[in-house]
Amino acid sequence: MLSPHFFFRLFMEFIALGDTDDVAASCHFVRIHNTGLVLDAGVDPRRDGRASLPNFDIIHSHRDRYVNHALITHAHHDHLGGLPVLVQEFPNVVAHMTEATHLLAEMLLPASARLQRRQREEGTTDADPLFTEDEAELYQQLYLTHQLQQTFDVTGHSPTPVKARFYDAGHILGSVGVALQFEEEGQTRDVFYTSDTNVKPQSIIAGASYPNSTDVLILESTLGSDPEAEQTTRGLETKRFTELLQRTLKRGGTALIPVFVMGRAQEMIAVLGQLKRQGKIPDDVPIYTAGSMRGVADIYDRTRNNTPRLDSDFRVFGVSQERLPYSDSGLREALKEPSIMVVSSGMMFEPTLSNRLGRRLIEDEKNAVLLVGYSKEDTPARRLLDAAAEGPGTEVVLSEARGPQPVRCAVERFRFSGHSNRRELLDIVATLSPDTVVLVHGEPAARAWMQEQIEERHPTVTVHKPDGGEVLTL
Ligand SMILES: [Zn+2]
Repeated sequence: MLSPHFFFRLFMEFIALGDTDDVAASCHFVRIHNTGLVLDAGVDPRRDGRASLPNFDIIHSHRDRYVNHALITHAHHDHLGGLPVLVQEFPNVVAHMTEATHLLAEMLLPASARLQRRQREEGTTDADPLFTEDEAELYQQLYLTHQLQQTFDVTGHSPTPVKARFYDAGHILGSVGVALQFEEEGQTRDVFYTSDTNVKPQSIIAGASYPNSTDVLILESTLGSDPEAEQTTRGLETKRFTELLQRTLKRGGTALIPVFVMGRAQEMIAVLGQLKRQGKIPDDVPIYTAGSMRGVADIYDRTRNNTPRLDSDFRVFGVSQERLPYSDSGLREALKEPSIMVVSSGMMFEPTLSNRLGRRLIEDEKNAVLLVGYSKEDTPARRLLDAAAEGPGTEVVLSEARGPQPVRCAVERFRFSGHSNRRELLDIVATLSPDTVVLVHGEPAARAWMQEQIEERHPTVTVHKPDGGEVLTL
């Protein structure tokens, strides 16, 4: 006799096409009957050219696998950057995203093509560009947009319909989690992919708004090994951030805030605007911004009436800001007076502005570097933080060309994360009460902690933490 379990078996194949550790390409293949779906199409920011792509050969090499639809959750490079290549590899694929993600992609993907071309021309990489600017622009017309909480069809070559629905993920502008629904043996089956998620409101963006149940939960685990993140609050972090800003400006210093262009930059400008309105920092202290974060800010402002916001009247450009001077003489002038500089990149990679400014600022004790995002091991930002913790005068190498420099300025890290802490991730599991959890997007220690906690709290839940390329049948 067949076991009763057989009749309720959810037939779904899941394969992570990128590494499942935290910063790799997010791209997951899901097959439900004969419908082939891809959840996100990111690239690995640590690599160049084809080596940065998800492993699409896993799909090509199997005759039952194909990609009919792609669901793009948000515009971060590790979730979006490989989409033009996905379109080239599977020319009939239909990609779905929110209107805001579409607007961001329209700006970010051609910019990514330009950067790849420039790096190849300058010889900083020997990898050929993955796509051209023209291709990125052309494919844009192929992407369909959907409102939050509206059901749309993503059925492939299958008689069994598969439906999808976007839920606000609270991570950055336009970000969503994806719910999939289909029939299996007369039963309705639900799958929910959180993607990157923040259940708490930030300064501009509201917190996630998720469904209240699912059968299979595909869950991010970024902060699974960060116990400190759950012990602090946004209020406490803002207070400490304000105090360091106040001290720095008072002694005539420059406060450097290295940020990620997409999301963190706009949220930090909102925080600074609030501090000025509250009189906590002087209104006349200039805030300098630069580069593509200004274009992203413009999209934040244009979509403020039709995306989830804490305050739809708030505009990023409503906070007065000046363009960081490009010339060396202009910059020298700007550095004479106390100011706040919000520039990319968040981890201070060479040759970005935050690296260039960092080199000029760290030797003078009147300045400060305020790190507001996550810095991975062995990035310039992390090296700076570690050197500062050793005590004043400890040397750090921000740039090989420049060599070691003593760190005399204040350097502190603040948790203004766009990700839920690990307790909040466990709360998502408790709320959605799935029978199966697939842990993705987290370092091994983070996913191991999550698995242990979920199994302890919910003994009937099956937890998987697949490696890249591993085939799960759920
Ligand atoms: Zn993200």
